[in-house]
Amino acid sequence: MYYNNILETIGDTPLVKINRITKEMPCTVLAKLEYFNPGNSVKDRIGIKMIEDAERSGRLKPGGTIVEGTSGNTGMGLALAAIIKGYHCLFVTTDKQSREKMDLLRAVGAEVIVCPTNVEPEDPRSYYSVSKRLSKEMPNSFYPNQYDNLSNRAAHYETTGPEIWKQTEGKITHFVAGVGTGGTISGTAKYLKEKNPNIKIWGVDTYGSVFKKYHETGEFDTKEIYPYITEGIGEDILPANVDFSLIDHFEKVTDKDAFIMTRKISREEGILAGNSSGSALAGVLQMKNVLKKDDVVVVLFPDHASRYIGKAFNDEWMRERGFLDNKPVTALDILNGKDTGLISIGKDETVHTAVNLMRERDIDQIVVMDKDDIVGSLTEIGVYSKLLENPESKNYTVEKLMEKPFPVMDAYANYTQIAKMINKENPAVLVKTPAGVIQIITKHDIIKALAS
Ligand code: PMP
Repeated sequence: MYYNNILETIGDTPLVKINRITKEMPCTVLAKLEYFNPGNSVKDRIGIKMIEDAERSGRLKPGGTIVEGTSGNTGMGLALAAIIKGYHCLFVTTDKQSREKMDLLRAVGAEVIVCPTNVEPEDPRSYYSVSKRLSKEMPNSFYPNQYDNLSNRAAHYETTGPEIWKQTEGKITHFVAGVGTGGTISGTAKYLKEKNPNIKIWGVDTYGSVFKKYHETGEFDTKEIYPYITEGIGEDILPANVDFSLIDHFEKVTDKDAFIMTRKISREEGILAGNSSGSALAGVLQMKNVLKKDDVVVVLFPDHASRYIGKAFNDEWMRERGFLDNKPVTALDILNGKDTGLISIGKDETVHTAVNLMRERDIDQIVVMDKDDIVGSLTEIGVYSKLLENPESKNYTVEKLMEKPFPVMDAYANYTQIAKMINKENPAVLVKTPAGVIQIITKHDIIKALAS
């Protein structure tokens, strides 16, 4: 059995039980893993649907250019369909989006224009305005407008909803999804509520977005709008795709809780999901008091972790934003923040070679090896004083000038113990990791870990 092209692999994504993270919850929580789609996100479903509906209505003609404002995932969905169907893509995105997302769009042949995030939607520089303007100016272009194009939610009514109904054998009691354009939640909710009007629909929103307040009070409150970091959900506009009448409750999740949960999902469940999946699951956990034993909660995970490697999955990025407040505790924590491994030199090399290597790699000390064994160390200060005494010593072998090896510490040693071992005479310690690899921690590494 084979597929005729990549578009035929869209949909029928798996539903997977969440186990560890939800063990305190009374109910069953199942995640709909949309990263199994070929473009790694839920938006593959709407890319093809918006294009095919536009072809049918004559809005998209052969050889046309698709112009869209997209945070990346919709762009990917459109671009995959465009490749197979022979269209060009021009995408407008914001500077808040991951670099990886933009690079991937370019990888599938799209042209990408980046606009500032922190301007009003009506501002001519905003990504809404730029995409609208370009779609008007470009000849033979089609502006899918995922916010207001109801083919978006129709895609979910036709595919996501029926899949979830079938996969849970009609046992679903709650459907939870982050809300951006609103297509996912509204289309899926419409199908599910037609099957069983008692199914509760919960939308996950961000702090800095207008949805929750609008839903609860009917007021579009511009004071609710401020910048936030979570990508893909929350809005400063009311897209036509959000059908507020189908949504029973909006739950707001902070950036910090969303990012921490995103990492928990990968570490504790082995599910490599993106940042808005963290928001959605954090939203479910916030609601645990209203859930009961027989409830079956389906939470939609929109995309893949690979789009957030430089963000949610980067300790430094997380720490800079205060999302990881735990300082490094063990030698292993410090090693996790390092990107270079152990640099060493053979005992029979010359001091001259060792000095060059240290300069090249910008290090102040180096480990001396005899084949696989660590037999000594050279430090910049040690070599400096020896060279002053006798400049000829640069031609000696390293063995002749080396000092004793750096002490070896346990991988789980506390960082204060390590810090105590590091002093003028002893600028570094060696650590054997649980996998048996020898690594080095220097004063510089400790400063970096503590100060970042
Ligand atoms: N998560 C991510 C990562 C997204 O890109 C989007 C789309 N903006 C959503 C969630 C929200 O989905 P929808 O637009 O269907 O509401």
